[in-house]
Amino acid sequence: MVIIKSSAEIVKMRKAGEIVALAFAAVKDAVRDGVTTGELNRIAHEVITSRGAVPSFLRYNGFPKSICASVNEVVIHGIPSEKTVLKNGDVISVDIGAYYDGYHGDRAVTFGVGDISDGAKRLIQTAEDAFWAGISHAREGERVSDISAAVQQTVESRGFSVVRDFVGHGVGSSLHESPEVPNYGQPGRGVRLYQGMTIAVEPMISAGRSEVRIGSDGWTVTTVDGSLSAHFEHSVAVTANEPLLLTAEV
Ligand code: MG
Repeated sequence: MVIIKSSAEIVKMRKAGEIVALAFAAVKDAVRDGVTTGELNRIAHEVITSRGAVPSFLRYNGFPKSICASVNEVVIHGIPSEKTVLKNGDVISVDIGAYYDGYHGDRAVTFGVGDISDGAKRLIQTAEDAFWAGISHAREGERVSDISAAVQQTVESRGFSVVRDFVGHGVGSSLHESPEVPNYGQPGRGVRLYQGMTIAVEPMISAGRSEVRIGSDGWTVTTVDGSLSAHFEHSVAVTANEPLLLTAEV
């Protein structure tokens, strides 16, 4: 069931999203050669809890850390660790959620560490561009698959692949709500978008093939062919006009 939020609920979701944005600002400053993903986890955890919020991912279905930190061929759900040291040329997708006053915010950004290859830059930019192309359709009267098709078209037109085994989602008082928001599909199908729907749109893309596998820890999702991956996400509210970014900086 798709849950329509009142404007008062969307104000609350924006508060949760602001905390996510603050955590991102701190993590972005800390990403550099030599830092561990465990340290990035601590930094984000501190920002979220100091604002009176709870990290959405901590203990979610048993997830052991407060953020997901996914390096290079890891697409999503990388578990932060003191053993994972970032080095120059890496790309790292950071996914952060915060639960505040009854609502979640959910956002992901892929960062380059130091000097990254032109191909890596293009991949990261494409994930973000696909997000913006997708949410240009996140308005009342369009359908979820209009978002999906725009994401897919953007990614594939640049020679990259869309990861299909994981999808965007509704977000609200639960971290994952209906509807699913795939990053591929034919336009004009499926769930209609209404004002007050809140969704996390999150292109997950690969420089090579689209197939992924889950690692032995039960979480870490990597590209099967070992190619680089990028991920970009905001939680957005559907309105009659432009979508409202819930997890952007104030
Ligand atoms: Mg998400």
